This record gives sequence, structure tokens and C-alpha cells, in this order.
Amino acid sequence: MPGMSRRLALVLAGVIATGLLAPSGLAMSARTHSAHSVKSLAGKVILIDPGHNIRNALHPTRINRPVFYGIPGATKPCDTTGTATNSGYPEARYTLAVGLHAVKILRDMGATVVMTPVNTRPWGPCITRRAAIGNQIHADAAVSIHADGAASWVHGFYVIVPSHRLPNVGLGPRRIARDVRLGAAMLKAYHKTTGMKISNLYTSGYLRSDAYGGTNLSHVPKIFIETGNMRSPGNAVKLRSRAFRHLSAWGIAYGIRLYLTGHM
Ligand SMILES: [Zn+2]
Repeated sequence: MPGMSRRLALVLAGVIATGLLAPSGLAMSARTHSAHSVKSLAGKVILIDPGHNIRNALHPTRINRPVFYGIPGATKPCDTTGTATNSGYPEARYTLAVGLHAVKILRDMGATVVMTPVNTRPWGPCITRRAAIGNQIHADAAVSIHADGAASWVHGFYVIVPSHRLPNVGLGPRRIARDVRLGAAMLKAYHKTTGMKISNLYTSGYLRSDAYGGTNLSHVPKIFIETGNMRSPGNAVKLRSRAFRHLSAWGIAYGIRLYLTGHM
């Protein structure tokens, strides 16, 4: 490649070898590649949980089946369809693309990664199953990926962590504190990597809620990340772009790595 510096050629070779483009373009990819080629997450087990199955809308009866989500006597639908941008780009497509890319990045960092099978089955799985998969693999960290469908003036990202002790499902203060630590790492790494601002609705960056079976029923550290608001015109431009989806995946991977190792 005439005219190309030796450094750039090496960088490109790294990008081609990994099949991954690091955030901030080529300038950063050499450093990033060498950082994760040391397999900094070797021995760690991670669950990546893309929030929705694109075919859920075709199976309303199955999806709306009431399931237990951790609150005694209460139920929620087994799974949901997710939202979409005003132009019709579905959250389920976005979360699958980001999830698949995050799986690649984390595997390249040396982790054992399981992804919720939202793309290989006709619907779901249910929120109960999403939590059970993380429990069964004894995940060191589990992240459910979403993008919000809030009012158009809402923008930015936030994490969802459990709010209340639920002794009936073993959710105690230690588990809640662990989820908050994973959330804190994610807030820092995701902002730094993607440039996305913290939500102007949940300005602390946290939504603490007992309304989510995915976190209530998880025995392993688990959070949801609402990576942006699909109904915000400004956020939607980003969420629809392939380049941002890659940044989003890197942000999630770095958040997990920061939580597990203390380093982004
Ligand atoms: Zn969602």
C-alpha cells in the first residue's frame, strides 16, 4: 500500500485480524487491540442479553403470558416487543446488532460469553428465562441492552438497578450493592466511549426500580442499560447509525471490563 505509514499499516492489520473497529477510528484501534489481545477477561463468564426478540409481535399470546417477576402476588408479561424510532427502526434490531458486536469484543478480550437466544428462536425468551440463563452459567456480569421509548424531549442513557430487598427471591442488600457497582462502571465507561450524555430524565444515571424481573430474579450481577431514547430525534440519528452501534457495543464491553477488572 504505497504512501501508507508503517504504523497505519500495522493498525489496519490489527483491525482486519480482529474484524473489529475500535472507537474513535483507526487512531485508537492499535492501542485498543493490544489492550484486549492480553485477554484481560480470561476466566470471566458474561451474559449479553439483547432486550427484545424482533419476532415477539407475531406471538402476542405467548409474549403476554403472565409470569412471576419477583414481587409476591404480582405478574408481568413474559416478554415485550420493545419500541422503535419515529421512522420505524425497531429497538429489537438495534439491541441485537449491539449485542452481537459486544459478544465479539468480549470474546476477543478472553471472556466466555453467552448471549440470550433472541435471534435463534421464534419469540422471547421470557424475562424469567433471561434471568435464569445468567444464573445457570454463574455469570460474573450480565447486561441487558435496551433503548428507551420515552417522550421526545428525553435524551441520553441510564442504567436500571433493583431498588428493594426481595427476600422471597434472595435479593438482599449485597446483591443490590453489586448491581449498583456494575451500573456505576457502565455509566462511566459508556459515556466515555460513546459520548452519549447521561439521561436528562434520570439525571443521576440510575433508575432504581423493582419492576424488572430481569434484575429482581438475577442471582448474578445484572443491570439494564437504556443506551439512548429512540423517540428523541437527536438520539435516534445516533442509534440508527452503524458507527454508533459499534461505539455502543464497545461502551458496554468497557463497562463490563471496568467492573470486573477495575480498568476500562
Ligand atoms: Zn427495551
